[in-house]
Amino acid sequence: MTPTRPPVLTQAHRRPEERKLHLAWSDGHQADYDYDYLRGYCPCAGCQGHGAGPVVFQAPARPVTLEAIEPVGRYAVSFLWSDQHGTGIYSFDFLRRLCPCPDCASGTAAPQPVAR
Ligand SMILES: [Zn+2]
Ligand SMILES: [Zn+2]
Repeated sequence: MTPTRPPVLTQAHRRPEERKLHLAWSDGHQADYDYDYLRGYCPCAGCQGHGAGPVVFQAPARPVTLEAIEPVGRYAVSFLWSDQHGTGIYSFDFLRRLCPCPDCASGTAAPQPVAR
């Protein structure tokens, strides 16, 4: 396998009527993420505790909506949720690994060639 540059998030578009966030990537991949799914995977210490293990899903106490998306540097975003939580920093790499689309979920997604 040739090492490829990790895909970069190119688009984040909220779909409030479906309570989903549409993300598109520099390698052409795109998918819809449920708000509650993303909120549940908030990687901040407050949500995840202080263990060093992988981020685990913590179901939100009640359904949330996404109020705002803030870029963090050039490699991550943070989300402000309707429960006023907003300290989680979601790196592109992390978001991509959370991708809920059938290709990624089955673990069979082939890396796309990077368009130049
Ligand atoms: Zn959190
Ligand atoms: Zn995917």
